[in-house]
Amino acid sequence: MIVERAFAKINLTLDVLGKRSDGYHEVDMIMQTVDLSDLVWLENSESSHVALESNAASLPVDSRNLAFAAAEVFRRESGVQAGVRLRVEKNIPIAAGMGGGSADAAAVLRGMNRLFGTGYTLDELAQLGAQIGSDVPYCVYGGCAWARGRGERIELRLPRPASFFAVILRPNCHVSTGDVYANLMQGEYSTSLHAEAALRALRSNDVRALESAMFNGLELAAMRLHPEIAQMKEKMEHTLRAPVFMSGSGPTLFTLASTQGSAQRMYNALRGFAKEVYLCRFVR
Ligand code: ATP
Repeated sequence: MIVERAFAKINLTLDVLGKRSDGYHEVDMIMQTVDLSDLVWLENSESSHVALESNAASLPVDSRNLAFAAAEVFRRESGVQAGVRLRVEKNIPIAAGMGGGSADAAAVLRGMNRLFGTGYTLDELAQLGAQIGSDVPYCVYGGCAWARGRGERIELRLPRPASFFAVILRPNCHVSTGDVYANLMQGEYSTSLHAEAALRALRSNDVRALESAMFNGLELAAMRLHPEIAQMKEKMEHTLRAPVFMSGSGPTLFTLASTQGSAQRMYNALRGFAKEVYLCRFVR
């Protein structure tokens, strides 16, 4: 039996450039993994099927689950006939803008590659990942990366993460990524990109410069649908006296810190605000 860690991501930037003729939106974003993770166990099984179990009762355990879908794609593309038993321990908030499902799918691809000794490179696994979901190629690599297209095109990977902390709060509401994109207004498309300034700040380990560069073009659309996100953001900013950002299509909100001590103080201040509050570190 082998185990793979599936790390959550936060968006440091997310610019939506416009709607494409295939219905998807063209995006440009910097994503960073943090040390909040699901665990995925994989083992050979005698049957010739994929079987999945999970501690998350709300998630399906068939091909609607991205972990299961990843196992099927891997078997189809690699020609591996053997069955596999998967167990996913969910710790990443679900439907929160933290890419948990994509991270599980990527962990399954990496894990099956090890389990069956198929010898795919990470680039090849990322290509398989694009068949499963837009964020899966990024999750195959993890770390800090600049993604474009639907999010599946990885343009640049930073060699090592900045040594920052993120204090993350998941407001108690459920957001549909599709609804948020559908709710975007014309004026909310980006005309200039925030990624380059963010990359410069990351390279020089400058948390203040990073905060000035950070941006999420889905924030207003998500907040129109769920005003409680805006209310929580305001409450957090007022309490912390620091900028707060939304990750992905929300509702997860977070703030950054450059030292463990200041992250701990912010975590303590936010703990009573919601059931799900996490103190995380940037990881590769
Ligand atoms: P993203 O940031 O990539 O948009 P997200 O964090 O908003 O993702 P996920 O937690 O990945 O959202 O889940 C989005 C939807 O995908 C959920 O509503 C859930 O039903 C479905 N899903 C399928 N497989 C999984 C999985 N293994 N873990 C979480 N959600 C899953």
